[in-house]
Amino acid sequence: MTVPELLDRLESHYGPQKPSWPVDPYEFLIWWHCGYPASDVRCARGWEELQKIGISPAELLAASPKALTAALKPGGMVPELRALRLKEIAQRVEHEFGGDFRRAMKRAALKKFPNIGDPGADRILLFGGVSPLAAVPSNCPHVLVRIQRGNVRLNYGVVYRQAQEAIELEVARTPEARQRAFLLLKEHGQALCKAAKPKCGECPVRAECRFTV
Ligand code: SF4
Repeated sequence: MTVPELLDRLESHYGPQKPSWPVDPYEFLIWWHCGYPASDVRCARGWEELQKIGISPAELLAASPKALTAALKPGGMVPELRALRLKEIAQRVEHEFGGDFRRAMKRAALKKFPNIGDPGADRILLFGGVSPLAAVPSNCPHVLVRIQRGNVRLNYGVVYRQAQEAIELEVARTPEARQRAFLLLKEHGQALCKAAKPKCGECPVRAECRFTV
């Protein structure tokens, strides 16, 4: 099954997808620290509370660690640590990039921020409209690899690269096409093709998938 065929099938099943997070690069970086373990639901909870303080670098630097921790608590574990991370982010944006996060829009620069590896950097650059990279959802790079290659026994980095290569080869290099691929794979990884216990019996691509239970 080609990647475009897979994406069409997933879209028929799940419907068109839209990002459920802020796509502005700086806002995404803050949102990403609003929940832990990071998920759309947990991050949205912390994000909502954080609005009461404000998310600009100046507002984050002015807030007390205690106030930030309290705001981040609804987002899950280690709110104290995430509050410190927000301070660190705000400080770096202010002092290294003159308050303009757009100046950090390169993968290497993004990866110097806390909790941003290749998947996070690629996602920021793709959804921020900076570059139509072959970004893969960080919590489910296995989806494409299972379908195309079968059971996944490789380490995370290898699986991520294999998924990225498949997108690079088969999905048009436009922001719209790459964002659509990311969103549909993410939805499928969350709804059915879960890392631990995939619900293959309910899957719309079961007949073409090489994964065996
Ligand atoms: S059949 Fe199972 S492993 Fe294959 S894509 Fe569907 S849920 Fe994932």
